[in-house]
This record gives sequence, structure tokens and C-alpha cells, in this order.
Amino acid sequence: MRGYGIYLEDRISELLKYPYILEWRERLLENVKSGRRSVVLFFDGLGNALSGWRLGSVERYRTVFPSSTPTFFYSFYSGLDPGQHCFLEWFMKWKEEIIAVPPWVTSDGKALSELTKKDVFPFKTIPKLLKGLNVAGLTPFADSPFTKYSLAGASIFKIGALADLLAFDYSKWDFVIVYWPSPDRELHKYWKSKPTRFILSEIKRLVREFLRLVPMGTDVYILGDHGQTYANKDISLSGKLVPTGGGRIAFFGEEPEFSNACVCDIKTFEPLMGSIRRLAIKRYGRHIALADKEYRFQYLWYKTRDIGHHGGLTDEEILVDVLRISR
Ligand SMILES: [Zn+2]
Repeated sequence: MRGYGIYLEDRISELLKYPYILEWRERLLENVKSGRRSVVLFFDGLGNALSGWRLGSVERYRTVFPSSTPTFFYSFYSGLDPGQHCFLEWFMKWKEEIIAVPPWVTSDGKALSELTKKDVFPFKTIPKLLKGLNVAGLTPFADSPFTKYSLAGASIFKIGALADLLAFDYSKWDFVIVYWPSPDRELHKYWKSKPTRFILSEIKRLVREFLRLVPMGTDVYILGDHGQTYANKDISLSGKLVPTGGGRIAFFGEEPEFSNACVCDIKTFEPLMGSIRRLAIKRYGRHIALADKEYRFQYLWYKTRDIGHHGGLTDEEILVDVLRISR
């Protein structure tokens, strides 16, 4: 099978040499249970450039596959492999239509009515797992059904700017989970040009200030859910909406033909995704198409032309650094 310049099987076994991000999650929750106050700062798309920050110890992990935000947060909040939780990408088939998860809206942005926890997050939540401990979640998406159900049992706080993180009283909580949507947004749009560099330096400055105010005895973790790669060549998807995600991956019920993507049976990825439940195939389809280097899947009707993308298997997309600082 073609793609990434080498055989896909070799690529998968190469990636399996890295520790898996869910192993980090297990250790993190064990530390919280044993009484270490912990704060995790997730910066969407931060990827694997944290060793240059020189703020603490850095470990490199393989994130989930597909290397995208919904896949990651479903795994982080449930502790399950993507093949088991069956939320593989942003756009998925649900009750005969294609919807976006999170935030659980229709493809044209309308809220879905009558969503239950069983629809949105049918798993045990971290706050329930850590019963007796105080868990807080800070996110700009405090009102979304995904936040409400995936963090059920936690106190949720809405943040509107990075600076809000400096006004929070961390001493009251055993475990704080923070989500911030940059630098993913900027990388998609501007790749690594000036706006992205500005946001990254702002994040670094914020982190330095933040470390001064967290109480002694706190473990702070900084990481991204995935990284991004540069991709400005189109693989056009016909007018029909299919499940897709970070731009580098698309799913099909029938085997499609592309000259600039490798198309594989979903089972090929079980070493990375865990055993695949039938529900995952029902929602996404049996065939995964992965865009070649520098290519992106693009709906004809999409107005935006992002140049940073993710979802695939390049080092830039799938390897993430975890920075740990113990105060
Ligand atoms: Zn993204």
C-alpha cells in the first residue's frame, strides 16, 4: 500500500515504538487519585515542539488515530481506543444524516434537539472515576452538549480569553482540565506564519505567568491533542458529504479511487485504533482514505482553503509532546 513514501505497515510499526498517549492518561489519573493536585492544559494542535520551551521535562507520545480533536477527547475522557468508542472524526453519520461531533450540530450548524448523555457520551466520566475529588473544566465551549456530558460530575467554567486562566483559584481543586482552541485555528489558516508565531509566543508567556500562580505541590501538564502538517494540494470530494475530519482523512462505505491518497480497509489500522466495533463502521464506513504528503481532502463547496491539516500519520500530525512541570 502506497502513501507516506513507504509502506503503510512499516509506518504503523514505526509509530507503535512510541508510547501511547492513553498510557500517559492512566498514570496521570493514578497520580491524581494518590493526592497530587494536577492541572492539564490542552492547547489544540500544539503537536511536538515543546522541548524548545525549556520549562520542564518533555516526553513524546503517539496520539490517537485519526489524529484529530474529537477522536482525542473521546479517548481522553473515556479511556477507550477510537475503535472502541467509535467517534473517529468530526463529521460522522448519525440517524441518516452527517453531523459534527463535537459540538453535536448538523452539517449546516443547527443544534440537534433531544440529545441525551447516552447519545453524546455513553461512557463513565473522569469526575465519576475520581469520586470524592474536586474536578474543574475550563473551556470556551462550556455550553456544548459534549462538554456537559463528557465532564459530567465536574464544575465547568467558561473562559473567553487566555488571560482568564490567570484569574482562576487552582488551590480549590484536585484536578483541573483546561482546553484552549489555539494554535490549531491559526495553523489551519496561516500555517507557521506570523499570526501563528504570535499566538504561540502568547501561549508561552501565559504558561510562564501561570506557573507562578499555581499552588506549590501541583503537577502541571501541557500538551496538544495532535499536530498539523502543511497541505495545499486538493483531493476533491464530490458534492456528497462523507465522514471526514482534520482534512487528511475521509471515510467511505464503498471503496473509492484516488490517485493521491491511500485507501485501506479500516481493519488495517487496528494496531493504532484498537479493535474496531461494528458501530464505528456503521458511522464512518469500512474504507479509510489517507491523503498523501501535502494533499488535503476538500469538498467542492467549501469556501475556505486551509493550508494546515491533520488526521493522518505523519510525525507532525500524530506525535505529541507532553511537558510536565512539578511545582
Ligand atoms: Zn484542527
